[in-house]
Amino acid sequence: MHLSQAVRHMTPSMTIGMDDRARALRRQGVDVVSFAAGEPDFDTPEAIKQAAIRAIREGFTKYTSPAGIPELRQAVAERLRRDYGADYAPDEIVITAGGKPALYFALRALCEAGDEVLVPVPAWVSYIEQVRLAGARPVAVPTDGGDGWQPRTDRIVPLLGPRTRAIIVNSPHNPTGTVYTRETLAALVEVSQRHGVYLLSDEIYESMVYDGARHVCLPGAWPEARDRIVLLNSMSKTYAMTGWRLGYVAAPRPLADGIAALQGHLSGNPNSIAQKAALSALAERVELGEMVAEYDRRRRYVVERLNSLSGVACAMPRGAFYAFPDVRGVLARPGGPTTSAALAEYLLEQAHVALVPGEAFEAPGFLRLSYATSMARIEQGLDRLAQALEPLAARV
Ligand code: PMP
Ligand code: GLU
Repeated sequence: MHLSQAVRHMTPSMTIGMDDRARALRRQGVDVVSFAAGEPDFDTPEAIKQAAIRAIREGFTKYTSPAGIPELRQAVAERLRRDYGADYAPDEIVITAGGKPALYFALRALCEAGDEVLVPVPAWVSYIEQVRLAGARPVAVPTDGGDGWQPRTDRIVPLLGPRTRAIIVNSPHNPTGTVYTRETLAALVEVSQRHGVYLLSDEIYESMVYDGARHVCLPGAWPEARDRIVLLNSMSKTYAMTGWRLGYVAAPRPLADGIAALQGHLSGNPNSIAQKAALSALAERVELGEMVAEYDRRRRYVVERLNSLSGVACAMPRGAFYAFPDVRGVLARPGGPTTSAALAEYLLEQAHVALVPGEAFEAPGFLRLSYATSMARIEQGLDRLAQALEPLAARV
């Protein structure tokens, strides 16, 4: 069968792929501990569910405006102003079916075929594929763990050219758990202003920051740069609503209109019921403190346990719900797996623990562990990792 080049050249999402494999093994009766999916284990808060049930009962089950219901666009604009001082009119907000379409439509609205988009790597799996699907060319900007994975402008500036349209900014960061410092963000804003490139700021993990840090919302902190900033966000992680499919874009009016028009043709309005649910999450200011405190507790436990494993080194992540251990010490040992992909395979087969190999994020030599799973499962999973890695260490 003829398939388009775009589809033939695409790599399916490995984060989803690993989780699917864990699920398939479970169906065969294998007790797999999955640290693969970046998906909250918490249930969607009750108030949000009740709002959705009310929406169904009241028959709010039809098409809405493709840009989203006005009340929700307004509620998003109000919360951006209230929480971050970011100034958007409701018609500069477009509600989408999650963070993924928000990013894709923004890329589609900004890029011509052959334009370039800079992506700091390691990077979440879908950035590079989405840039390609939008007809543009992803350009990797290397970052180092030694710098805390902060993107450096001395690496970005030489990569800028006449076709550069945008830079992807993701803080808190998937997969490293890094939170960009204010200095890093200020430098990115300065580059965007000086070179006329957009910053696509994916702030989906905004509520998951630890050690007393506060999330810096790009258009809130640098209002003078807002014409070059596209804010991308989603209800998925913050409100444990991955299955509901609801996100949003905040962008200057012409871009917001373009994104809404694309959405009108491509996916149509976001789910009407989920929009009412999101409205309740924002309007009733659903409390997230307990969830975040629990992630924090798990984060510290996971990092301590990982660092106790021979050949493994894990920096303390400051945000999101991922640990990103360096496993090159394990890979250097004779007779064992020599790549992080092979190690992830070994751990899934031998220990029944699912992790995503760094290769998925353009960062071989690392594994991503999502600690958005219960403490009991985390303990069990780490015990299994310790046991499975022991014979590899013994080979030294
Ligand atoms: N951005 C990042 C960095 C993510 O990790 C995810 C997770 N899927 C998304 C965007 C998209 O999330 P969703 O489409 O569920 O809103
Ligand atoms: N974003 C999450 C992750 O990185 C969910 C899976 C996906 O959409 O890639 O695991």
